[in-house]
Amino acid sequence: MIGTPDPKPAIALPSFSDVQTAARRLRDVAHRTPVMTSRIADDRTGASLFFKCENLQRAGAFKFRGAYNAVKALSPADRARGVVAFSSGNHAQAIALAGRIEGVRTVIVMPEDAPPSKVEATRAYGGEIVMYDRYADDREAIAGRLAAEQGLVTIPSYDHVDVIAGQGTAALELIEDAGPLDALFVCLGGGGLLSGSALAAQALSPGCRVYGVEPEAGNDGQRSFRAGEIVRIAVPVSIADGALTTHLGHRTFPVIRDLVTDILTVSDAALVDTMRFILERLKMVAEPTGCLAAAAALADLVPISGLRVGIIVSGGNIDSRALGRLLA
Ligand SMILES: *Cc1c(COP(=O)(O)O)cnc(C)c1O
Repeated sequence: MIGTPDPKPAIALPSFSDVQTAARRLRDVAHRTPVMTSRIADDRTGASLFFKCENLQRAGAFKFRGAYNAVKALSPADRARGVVAFSSGNHAQAIALAGRIEGVRTVIVMPEDAPPSKVEATRAYGGEIVMYDRYADDREAIAGRLAAEQGLVTIPSYDHVDVIAGQGTAALELIEDAGPLDALFVCLGGGGLLSGSALAAQALSPGCRVYGVEPEAGNDGQRSFRAGEIVRIAVPVSIADGALTTHLGHRTFPVIRDLVTDILTVSDAALVDTMRFILERLKMVAEPTGCLAAAAALADLVPISGLRVGIIVSGGNIDSRALGRLLA
């Protein structure tokens, strides 16, 4: 537990030891993704930048870490029943793949407008897909009904101790491989990756400033951070389709409130510029959401000159047509 106790019923919060447990579970299953550097990025910022390439993770995003850790942590009875997840894409693929590896049935509730490549990949990993309308239906209610009717265990994409702990292993590896950091930039949707990363950074690189980065249009995290309580917004419109969340979680918010330095925002135009930069300079494909952290670091939103700076490139799932359209 961290921070001041909540006046409401106590809720279990993740700790760094949960991140370490996740790292052990993931050791031979997840890729230890590379950490890349770029002379051009360093020259541009005056900093030493270390890019943790989770776009090269299994199923194309860091989400595999949390999903696999949560599936692996299930009791034998829960494993036998199966899991349900709701996701606009990367968590869906990650849960489906984790289920396939562990022999656990997975049902995925996905929005009808999810990128087709993500729907196809989820199906290919063996996930059973249930579609809903992002702007009309309540996906949590749909997942809840499926869970009740079929006895499935819900694994949410961020507000879950084992999911947060699994996501934290990306920053753990980054700090192990790159050494201590002065600052760490992490993209922010519901806050699973950011809260897990903050736990890892606090334990392994004390004093490291941790910044969450959101799309400008969906700045609920920034507003929540400044207000000191969870602020809910309407479904935002942004090309960062992995960060279209409307609120932080009851488990992610307290960790973010206590351990994160600030929340920054970047525009869709800056995301496109950063996708191009990562493609041309790092020779990698990153999806728009995957570029949030790098976009903030490259945009000089906070002073980083002279610092050792970690950046998590969170995912690379974008089909070639969408990529071409955005970069044209
Ligand atoms: C899910 C996702 C995010 C946001 O992660 P949260 O844990 O919800 O904050 C960022 N980038 C990518 C590529 C994602 O799939």
